Amino acid sequence: TEEKSLNFIEHIIENDLKSGFEKEKLRFRFPPEPNGYLHIGHATSICLNFGLGLKYNAPVNLRFDDTNPAKEEQEYVDAIKRDVEWLGFNWAKECYASDYFQELYDWAVQLIKDGKAYVDSQSSQEIADQKGTPTESGKESPYRNRSVDESLELFEKMKNGDVQEGEHVLRAKINMASTNMLMRDPVMYRVLHKNHHRTGDNWKIYPMYDWAHGESDYVEQVSHSLCTLEFLPHRELYDWFLEQIYDTSKVRPKQREFARRNLSHTVVSKRKLLKLVQEGVVNGWDDPRMPTISGMKRRGYTPASIRNFADSIGIAKRDNIVDVSHLEFCVREDLNKIAPRVMAVLDPVKLIITNYPEGKEEWLDAENNPEDEHAGSRKIPFSKELFIEREDFKEEANRKFFRLTLGKEVRLKNAYIIEGQSVVKDESGNITEIHCTYDPDSRSGSGTEASQRKVKGTLHWVSIQHAIPAEIRVYDRLFLTESPDTDKEKDFMEHINPDSLQITEGFLEPSLKNVKPEEVFQFQRIGYFAVDKESSESKLVFNKTVGLRDSWGS
Ligand code: ATP
Ligand code: MG
Ligand code: MG
Repeated sequence: TEEKSLNFIEHIIENDLKSGFEKEKLRFRFPPEPNGYLHIGHATSICLNFGLGLKYNAPVNLRFDDTNPAKEEQEYVDAIKRDVEWLGFNWAKECYASDYFQELYDWAVQLIKDGKAYVDSQSSQEIADQKGTPTESGKESPYRNRSVDESLELFEKMKNGDVQEGEHVLRAKINMASTNMLMRDPVMYRVLHKNHHRTGDNWKIYPMYDWAHGESDYVEQVSHSLCTLEFLPHRELYDWFLEQIYDTSKVRPKQREFARRNLSHTVVSKRKLLKLVQEGVVNGWDDPRMPTISGMKRRGYTPASIRNFADSIGIAKRDNIVDVSHLEFCVREDLNKIAPRVMAVLDPVKLIITNYPEGKEEWLDAENNPEDEHAGSRKIPFSKELFIEREDFKEEANRKFFRLTLGKEVRLKNAYIIEGQSVVKDESGNITEIHCTYDPDSRSGSGTEASQRKVKGTLHWVSIQHAIPAEIRVYDRLFLTESPDTDKEKDFMEHINPDSLQITEGFLEPSLKNVKPEEVFQFQRIGYFAVDKESSESKLVFNKTVGLRDSWGS
């Protein structure tokens, strides 16, 4: 069997196991803040954490890091749960940092009593001004040495809502001269008179990320708390906070960092994605152009393709940008295996078979998926008047054009061999009809000599009389530049591609009449298309998922 090489996180875990950490105590978590929808970056973290859970047969919690009531909503909690499930993972427990508010408060009181925390009554500006610079130590707050009793009393008042927002904060008493700025008496609690989506008005103080995160890991007995690289300097503080409260008989969580997943031609930050939604650049968080899990789902990406993408790139120690064409490759690879093949014409021109009997219709056999022997076949109607793609015909063409021209033969997929005869044009010279003849003995699969004749090109088509119209939404990159995030001169919003959505009308074979949202098909010779959530029997709507091959830049 093929042994996949270990990533550096797995190496850390293996080393811990070698040095005596019990395998049964391994535990992981995926900790989203419910302030937006999950995106492809989160998918990486989900695949990493839940992948470790599967590999080591260890529980993985879904933890909502809901410590900032100003930005968090139940809608986001629901969407996050849907998306993680859709990706194919099961969490052991659904947890909320807000469930630990009382425990965190009690620990904070203990820290004050131990002389490790104090209430500071300065403004946030004053506190910031005293922080110092990395090369110059900070100034101690005049409240740093206020008595334990006074801090306890004020902290209680903060909790009870007896003080205004910004009047006091609780700070850890660590080291104002530390070379790590985060260790310079970080704020642990601030007063917020805001309604929380779960705890309502119970709390008037809310813990800061650094105080809440590690202690939540500890409550849940998470062994390895994996986060992105920007938290590397936070590790010292994570450890310091745990040091104050942990019990040696319990697992002491450790934080380890990996590189953020960045994808080209998009942004992966909930704050920026929210802006695209709020400013109407896209039609909601699940707009098929969004790099959100719900957007990719609506576009027709499959859970397997996203998981394969995450696995194939692996976990890095340094930030980098992965080209979106790699994600598209994974999508194509999965859809090629599972998507039923159908025929659709997106830019139609009329083709008339002059020697085909008027009024006749035939129902021909068409294979559903040559990659899947169990996919079976279906019947498609053939008649005298068809649509083919405008670009599949040229009156005159060179030898490399293997499509329809006058005086040359091509095969109509699943049907007959035809030969171009003449064209009809309108006043401005546009072709309105192509006339051709067909060879009645050449039907695909009929076994006749004529049916086995080799012709260079095969075209897709639909019978006009049977075709069903559909709205087709075709997407381009949402941003024109590879890395709209990192431009120092221009805001990312200035890199938006103004033409990222094109809506056209296409014509589909009638087997597609009853399709349901989320189903994905291969429109033969064109690409993959997913039925949109706005689609109905009276008006079919498809999203282009991805083309058949990578044509970006060509
Ligand atoms: P955003 O800036 O988009 O809000 P975040 O890191 O603040 O991202 P969280 O909800 O806190 O979002 O993230 C939950 C988990 O997902 C964290 O462990 C975080 O490190 C991880 N994560 C977020 N973005 C990425 C990314 N681009 N690549 C890999 N992991 C990510
Ligand atoms: Mg975060
Ligand atoms: Mg964030």
